[in-house]
Amino acid sequence: MYTCGGCGRSIELSQSNLGIRCTYCNKKVFYKERPTIAKSLEAR
Ligand SMILES: [Zn+2]
Repeated sequence: MYTCGGCGRSIELSQSNLGIRCTYCNKKVFYKERPTIAKSLEAR
C-alpha cells in the first residue's frame, strides 16, 4: 500500500503500475507505507 502525497489516501500499487497517477487527485507522488513501528514508550 502507498499513501498519495497529494490527498493522503491509501492506494494499492503493484510493481506494474508504479507510474500511474493518483485516481483521486491526479498526482504522481506516493509514499510507501511502512509497517507500524512500535516506539518504545514506557508508560509508567
Ligand atoms: Zn491523491
